[in-house]
Amino acid sequence: MSMRTMNGIPASPGRASGRVVRVGGNDTAAGEPPAGPAPTDPVAEAARIEPAVQAVAGRLEARAAAVTGDAHDVLLATVAMVTDPALLDNARELVLAGGRPAARAVHEAAGAFADLLAGMGGYMAERVRDIEDVRDRIVAELLGLPAPGCPDLADLESPVVLVAADLAPADTAGLRPGVALALVTEQGGPTSHTAILARSLGIPAVVGCAGATSLAEGAAVLVDGSTGEVAEVADVTGPAAAVAEWDGVGRTADGHRVPLLANVGDSAGAATAAGHRAQGVGLLRTELAFLSATEEPSPARQHEIYAGVLSAFPGLPVTARTLDAGADKPLPFLVQDGEPNPALGVRGLRVARARADLLDRQLAALVAAADGSGAQLKVMAPMVATAEEAAWFVARCRAHGITQAGVMIEVPAAVLTAREILAEVDFASVGTNDLAQYLFAADRQSGALAALNDPWQPALLRLIRLLGEASTATGTPVGVCGESAADPGLAPVLVGLGMATLSMGSGALAGVGAALAAVTLDECRSRAAAACAAVDPAAARAAVAALDAEHRRPVAIG
Ligand code: PEP
Ligand code: MG
Repeated sequence: MSMRTMNGIPASPGRASGRVVRVGGNDTAAGEPPAGPAPTDPVAEAARIEPAVQAVAGRLEARAAAVTGDAHDVLLATVAMVTDPALLDNARELVLAGGRPAARAVHEAAGAFADLLAGMGGYMAERVRDIEDVRDRIVAELLGLPAPGCPDLADLESPVVLVAADLAPADTAGLRPGVALALVTEQGGPTSHTAILARSLGIPAVVGCAGATSLAEGAAVLVDGSTGEVAEVADVTGPAAAVAEWDGVGRTADGHRVPLLANVGDSAGAATAAGHRAQGVGLLRTELAFLSATEEPSPARQHEIYAGVLSAFPGLPVTARTLDAGADKPLPFLVQDGEPNPALGVRGLRVARARADLLDRQLAALVAAADGSGAQLKVMAPMVATAEEAAWFVARCRAHGITQAGVMIEVPAAVLTAREILAEVDFASVGTNDLAQYLFAADRQSGALAALNDPWQPALLRLIRLLGEASTATGTPVGVCGESAADPGLAPVLVGLGMATLSMGSGALAGVGAALAAVTLDECRSRAAAACAAVDPAAARAAVAALDAEHRRPVAIG
């Protein structure tokens, strides 16, 4: 058998090797129900829909009650889709006026919603999979078939790599990290709920991986959720010795400290991160907990979520980012109507400036949650472009007694004025996902443009070099919290460029820790110089690999 390597979209960092278990996902869907015969009693036929909806919603609610965190929220969001009154009304109408059997009516009504979402693109388009799952569940109920999806997922005992055409969020929500070593799907994008859940569970994941379902059941594969590579291998390997040996303190071989922090979205993710020995939280994406909120979450609800994260890290820093609403993460209670170009629109801090009341309530909830948690609260703003915006945000934080206030650097203009910005703040964190997208004018969600968004692009690395120089000149620490920090090969480069901390999905911590421990600070600097001088990402990788070989201390990558 020839050993193949496939490439998909990296969706949750970390590497794992294991045997393939193929799960049904879409394959188990009831299929397209027939359009006829027309019901003899349309009123009775239409009346069958609501009880089916209620039965499906009830089962999903029971599953939601059994889990917490992102999984709980995703399941409740699915329940809200199932019970959407517009779906029910449209389906009934298709029976009463259109003469369709009930199952067909639900199929068509849901299809119309799916088309609408697909037309909206970005994050909304990735909800299409969610609505299809809801559709298939109600149709199966009406036809008396078993519920679609992967009922066996929650029962899996031995650790495996799950491979599917696609996974419904309701199925991913039942996964346990010790059992699912990694996820690989043919469909889906990096902001699908499945990807978000995998990240918060610390499970490496690759999505949009063409050909994945042709992998044989039981085949040994190595999944790299940081690069998107899925490789067939001769046998399953355990974690590399160097990774097992990481002692939980980020430092180079000569003792230069680089705290390794976690990116999390809620308390479940924070608990996973603490289990992976994160030295704190470098990015709490507060908006992730509110993706399906139709009104501003109450101060009590916000307090509960933030306290759940802060209390997992007594004595350690927890950096909360204020709501980064907009573009690929529209919050229903804050939707900006009719923006032709939402990624360049009123998003991130720009929303907070228009709605300072909302920001103030969030800052107050963060401060209250930090009180007595023992963690060190740090707060930063997303999408800052100018020193004036940075100063405005810091003043707002100071008014709430926040002593560590910072900004994310993810707009090229902020790099070019970094010295002025760093003079206003206590720290900064580079969001390389957005910085790459705005630097290259390349949508970060586009699979077709993934090569431009490669964090090894020398142009991106040269911008980070400017930030490192500004950090040294001002004495203000700058770290990285974009996905680039999760790449064990790139971590020494980022440290060599002057980055003070690295924050990543939990699954990547040990690999990055081991990679840093294998090089001295000087060796990091020579890797940084070589990567920046390269002409393209391939040459940058090759230059760093050549230095690895020269130092004969291979970078350990999981
Ligand atoms: C980034 O842009 O790199 C980042 C960390 O923020 P997000 O991915 O949430 O936009
Ligand atoms: Mg960002």
